[in-house]
Amino acid sequence: MSQAATTRVQHTIGDPLSDDPVVSRDTLEEIFSDIQADLRYDHELNGCLNCGICTATCPAAHYYDFSPREIVQLLWTENLEGIYDAMQEKIWACAQCYTCAARCPFGNSPGGLVMLMRETAIKHGLQSAKDVLRPFSRVLLKVISTGNQVSPDMIKPDHFADWGPNISKVEAPLKVLRQAIPVPTLNTTETSWEVNLKTSIELYTIWEMTGVLDQLETIDENLFDVITDIMDEKREDWEDWLEEQDEADEDDED
Ligand code: SF4
Ligand code: SF4
Repeated sequence: MSQAATTRVQHTIGDPLSDDPVVSRDTLEEIFSDIQADLRYDHELNGCLNCGICTATCPAAHYYDFSPREIVQLLWTENLEGIYDAMQEKIWACAQCYTCAARCPFGNSPGGLVMLMRETAIKHGLQSAKDVLRPFSRVLLKVISTGNQVSPDMIKPDHFADWGPNISKVEAPLKVLRQAIPVPTLNTTETSWEVNLKTSIELYTIWEMTGVLDQLETIDENLFDVITDIMDEKREDWEDWLEEQDEADEDDED
């Protein structure tokens, strides 16, 4: 979701850089401009009191070297190098729970700003984005090839041999954990929804039109190739099905 320009995009960004930035000033400015140019930026950053309420209530801040206050301050002060540095690791600690947004007296959404930084990291193909998203390639493949989600009961040692011994830790307490943490649904392979071919084709169009597939190609070219082949096959199946329907209609008319 981006637009050509917002009221906050400036022609010159005044933040001084160190003598030896890790990437060029042009790259730093381009990344920051991409974050700013998103339509949501103006809604999610309104100023910052540096009060730290967001960090005090942030679950990720309790466990990681991460502070939503710091993220907001970096953006608010247009600290180009700091923003780039935070995109190497810190932004991936956020749990996207939006507790911060509910508490900030300025109406900021630090979690929403983190999301913009993540999307920009993907757009620019930053290594941090590739590293963080690689373990999810199987889920992406499953969702795109079947249109469906991975339900907890599918996480079995037999299906995830490449996870090694760690899979047994996941499988054993999963049901207990999900019962302990209330979630709206507890889908299994029996109860999760089925996606028909037409819906899959429509989803492909949405992913193409919204740039999701371009993003995927940026971060994982091999997965993109596999998924593109699957999409082509499904589209052919859909065309065949439509032709069969036309022929059946014609037979009915005769
Ligand atoms: S959305 Fe992210 S930054 Fe905000 S409270 Fe949750 S984990 Fe922290
Ligand atoms: S983002 Fe909001 S809650 Fe967090 S430090 Fe700034 S003003 Fe305080």
